[in-house]
Amino acid sequence: MNNYKKDNIVAIATANGQAGVGIIRISGINLLPLITKLTTIKSIDKIKPRYAHYVDFINCNDNSKDSNSNKDDNSKINQLNKLDELSEVIDSGVLLYFPTPHSFTGEDVIEIQGHGSPIILQMLIKSCLNLGCRLAEAGEFSKRAYLNGKIDLLQAESILDLIHAESEAAAKGAVKSLRGIFSKHINQINEQLINLRMFIEATLDFPEEDIEFIANAKIKDKLINLQSTLQILLNSTKCGVLLNNGINIVIIGRPNVGKSSLLNALANEDIAIVTDIAGTTRDIVREKIIINGIVCNIIDTAGIRSTTDVVENIGIKRAFNAIQTAQLCLVLIDETIGITEDDNKILAQIPAEIPRIFVHNKIDLTDFVGNEAGIDRQHIAHIQQQEYYQQQHVYISAKHQLGLDILRNVILDMIGFNMTSESYNSSDIFTARTRHLDAVNRTISHIDTALLNWQQLEIAAEELRYGHNSLSEITGEFTADDLLGEIFSKFCIGK
Ligand code: GDP
Repeated sequence: MNNYKKDNIVAIATANGQAGVGIIRISGINLLPLITKLTTIKSIDKIKPRYAHYVDFINCNDNSKDSNSNKDDNSKINQLNKLDELSEVIDSGVLLYFPTPHSFTGEDVIEIQGHGSPIILQMLIKSCLNLGCRLAEAGEFSKRAYLNGKIDLLQAESILDLIHAESEAAAKGAVKSLRGIFSKHINQINEQLINLRMFIEATLDFPEEDIEFIANAKIKDKLINLQSTLQILLNSTKCGVLLNNGINIVIIGRPNVGKSSLLNALANEDIAIVTDIAGTTRDIVREKIIINGIVCNIIDTAGIRSTTDVVENIGIKRAFNAIQTAQLCLVLIDETIGITEDDNKILAQIPAEIPRIFVHNKIDLTDFVGNEAGIDRQHIAHIQQQEYYQQQHVYISAKHQLGLDILRNVILDMIGFNMTSESYNSSDIFTARTRHLDAVNRTISHIDTALLNWQQLEIAAEELRYGHNSLSEITGEFTADDLLGEIFSKFCIGK
């Protein structure tokens, strides 16, 4: 697997100019001589693995030479000798040395911690280039870690997910994936798949009737067992994707039904302007809110009505465009009026495949709960519990913050996220990607086909083989090079 060009790579691993400390990482083969050139440690015997050496960093920049690393050995030695003469201290800081194979990439790795100044860090980088390193490409450290078998593909992806996590739950989920919890599930199922395949193939080799009869019965049971294990994995993977990607939710409805009030109530702050003047929200307003760890990009849209106002019409067009990107629509209805002809016209324009929740607002003004002064919260909760699972109709008052918890639950329910907040502390929740979901789905369909054909053992064995291949794509056991390129190019430099 690890046949890549094993040259020395270097990159700044910290954000540019944003912190007191800046970290540079180097990975490659036999980095000890480089340390003796780059620092005041002049003997390799003095370099202890995984020990924080406090050192001066030496300027190895010679502007008369280019930083091309492809020079022959002799010219390199000459160059290094000349560098001694030019030496000067760039900075002081910490140097850590992780010898192969006990490092992140599996190669020799050096971590330099200097001051966070971009100028200092650039001078250090230039020195490393002059000492034969080249600039690392995006994600190249993680790619080497993967190619050297230090992490699997799924763990490599979770590093990126961790960096980009937008909620605490997503970060916890990414850490779980990085620690190999998702991979462990995959590997366990793969083991089950391989064992079953071996069992079937052994049965094929001994076709005496008795053995076949007993074996067949077991095969069917084992396939059913595998199917239910995969369903559990599918569910966790779906939740992991939601946790990682978040969802787009659009609030849509006629003017003045309370769309902006609902956005503000869900976000717990005044983001959108609330007035009783129809047509106030003319553009779309976006806000990120977190429901049970899921990042929800909520889009408040212009009220939909027939109008000659040019700007308002552009806003209405944008509202319908926003619906196209939504995974869920909250159709807001003014409960004091009920569902009108205009509401039905709006509903007709929402693509059938987008799930929707009918949110009946302003219940404080209806007989449903009495008047504003006499709201019976228990009564509302009771009625909502009944309505809740039946039809996705939720009754709220955005202004008085009533029924919002139930609305949040229905939202999670509708998108298929059924993890409770306690689950985040269990091992069940990890971040996942659509690529993984696709592979799990393909595996399931192979197992389904195997089960349909369980009496034709050759077919069942073949389907199990396909299933194993699909599932192994997740951890990178069978992965095309172009997919690797695509995955690692999304990383930042230095990761
Ligand atoms: P939008 O045009 O759909 O965005 O509606 P707004 O959020 O701007 O609200 C229109 C009007 O309805 C404002 O005067 C709000 O205070 C009022 N409103 C919104 N929600 C409620 C509610 O639950 N109860 C009551 N009584 N008034 C509400």
